[in-house]
Amino acid sequence: MAEPYVRTRIAPSPTGEEMHIGNLYTALINFVWARKNQGKFIVRIEDTDRTRYVQGSEQRLLQNLKDYGLDYDEGPDIGGDYGPYTQSERLDLYKKYALQLVEQGSAYFCFCSQQRLAELRQQQRKQKIIPPKYDRYCLRQYSKEQALSLYQQGKPAVVRLKIPQNQSIEFIDEIRGKISFDSSLIDDQVLLKSDGFPTYHLAVVVDDHLMKINYVIRAEEWISSTPKQILLYKAFGWQLPKFVHLPVLRNPDRSKLSKRKNPVWVSWYLKEGFLPEAVLNYLALMGFSHPEGKEIFSLQELIKVFDIARINPVGPVFDLVKLEWLNGEYIRAMTDPELKEKIIQYYNRFFNKQLDKDLVAKTVPLIKERIKKLSDYWFYCRFFWERPISYQLNLQPHQELLARIIEVLSTLSNWTADEIGSLMVNLAKKQGIVTGKFFMVLRVAITGQKITPPLNESMEILGKQECLERLQLALKHKG
Ligand code: GLU
Repeated sequence: MAEPYVRTRIAPSPTGEEMHIGNLYTALINFVWARKNQGKFIVRIEDTDRTRYVQGSEQRLLQNLKDYGLDYDEGPDIGGDYGPYTQSERLDLYKKYALQLVEQGSAYFCFCSQQRLAELRQQQRKQKIIPPKYDRYCLRQYSKEQALSLYQQGKPAVVRLKIPQNQSIEFIDEIRGKISFDSSLIDDQVLLKSDGFPTYHLAVVVDDHLMKINYVIRAEEWISSTPKQILLYKAFGWQLPKFVHLPVLRNPDRSKLSKRKNPVWVSWYLKEGFLPEAVLNYLALMGFSHPEGKEIFSLQELIKVFDIARINPVGPVFDLVKLEWLNGEYIRAMTDPELKEKIIQYYNRFFNKQLDKDLVAKTVPLIKERIKKLSDYWFYCRFFWERPISYQLNLQPHQELLARIIEVLSTLSNWTADEIGSLMVNLAKKQGIVTGKFFMVLRVAITGQKITPPLNESMEILGKQECLERLQLALKHKG
């Protein structure tokens, strides 16, 4: 059922060079759920962990979303009613809310040194206390007023959440159903660090609340963070959003999708010649099934038929071979002029090549049925732009045949694929050579390659003079 007003968000951390394909998947589902419900899709940059911050990463993340057409309604570069959308610009807010929690007794100052905390952990480990937890020394040691005054005097402190003991913290995950945690196993989380920066838990809850996010849709790995965040919502007296934890994508061997087994950066897919629409379509199939069992559908159709309840939480397999197949289907569904444009843009953007438009237009019908990715175009068609410098077949034993071919083709005035074809078939017959072998020699002589688009058509496009010159070169080629 459609919700009245849905606000979703992704909250990437600029800790890497590029967006991970798993994050694009999360972004897609957030985008689709917002669009389906006439809601808003928001991007917030979570850059409070300064030790993991990578310069320039934020701009690349936003560019990745744009490249895939996942337009957001509010975000760091476009603003919105609930900005700023970059956490490092909201530090005062987090501090205010952390102090509010201290004031109401839901959190407390902790002045313990790193050294004491390390010793404590070591001790607990020895005593086999699992998981090790902060011992609330500062909570016992200082009254609220004493602690506040020490803090105001500038004594380095963190703010910790006072996790209630022996409680079951439960929430409903919209895909997985009821999930519960034992609060006794949760450490008193640091909410505000001594440098004034919030930790993830505080910042995410404050921002999701202030930005009116009512669907938190994120990856499975955040499930264990949810009880801590729920405690924060409760401490503030704020309404909980709905929680949706998406399945983690897996390699075909079922291991977690990782750099070692699969390319994971979303920019890699574009550079490799995948179409953004095809990648999104494939990601949509991760855990979700179209009600009519369709595998190929547009983003618009996805928005129409999508339902969170249809997502299967069992780790879906991300298979590059299947994605290639799907990409090929998208290529075939394009009109020739559309494909021509895509090819020109692709080689321009990623390889800085300015391909001749007319030549691309002529060659597109020859390869449209064969290519799976835009990068396959060059594999088949490079020879239209570049004369062969090497040959995939030794042409030495075929010198005489090449000489005959040149002789015969020189007489042809109507240089069309059909005429070239029938002339060559006749010549093969006359020479007593099986056509397959004959055409392989001709193919390699003209293109250098054993695998090419249909040869007669290719020769028509190259033109008579160019073909004859190439045959001469092949004839002269030694080795
Ligand atoms: N900053 C977290 C990330 O890097 C966001 C997690 C969340 O969605 O709550 O993915």
